[in-house]
Amino acid sequence: MSLIIAIDGPSASGKGTLARSLATHLHFAYLDTGAVYRAVAHSYLEKYGPTIDLDAGVKEAILVRDHFDAKILENPALRLEDVAQMTSKLSSFLEIRAILLELQHNFAHKPPSPARGAVLDGRDIGTVVCPNATLKLFVTASTEARAQRRTKELQNKGISVIYADVLRDMAERDMRDKTRTISPTLPAEDAIILDTSDLTADDVFAKALELAKMRGITA
Ligand code: C5P
Repeated sequence: MSLIIAIDGPSASGKGTLARSLATHLHFAYLDTGAVYRAVAHSYLEKYGPTIDLDAGVKEAILVRDHFDAKILENPALRLEDVAQMTSKLSSFLEIRAILLELQHNFAHKPPSPARGAVLDGRDIGTVVCPNATLKLFVTASTEARAQRRTKELQNKGISVIYADVLRDMAERDMRDKTRTISPTLPAEDAIILDTSDLTADDVFAKALELAKMRGITA
């Protein structure tokens, strides 16, 4: 049986950084499930524009699932704000989630060789995708702390943004993700909550490593 670490939480909570560091340290495979949803939304936007059409969304999800190549997740265009907002809209449909569930489930249970385990991050990994994960973490931080981080991250990439706009867009997307009926952003009952508002990435990593060790996961 594969070892699985499920990390959920809202945008810019630090879950991606933590997931990547854990996977590298433990020699586990890593899947950024938000990027998988973003890949669907990105090709959807290119083909169909901003109007929502479920059948077209389903088609795109099937294409991503059936021709999955981890390289597409590195496309910087996936990080654009219009892609983020479209991702959040398309991912509220059960039909689209069901298609991508299979891909995530397979990755978690049969991670690419030679990894002996997998780290997945997203919104419903601990609740829906991997309810039997070895370790479940829910990484969160105040909306202000997250918006400040995202603003800095975008400015460091040379993208000109202002904090107030980032805060507004983030609050809108988080609200949609948190209040949807299907797979809302929620900690699983047995998830451990890590509030990163006042912690550095190194602090969060050390804490998570300690929790992993308690579950028998070591490098
Ligand atoms: O994590 P990230 O911000 O890249 O996710 C983009 C969007 O994808 C989220 O706002 C959410 O709507 C959706 N998502 C999801 N379920 C996941 C991962 C992401 O619905 N497991």
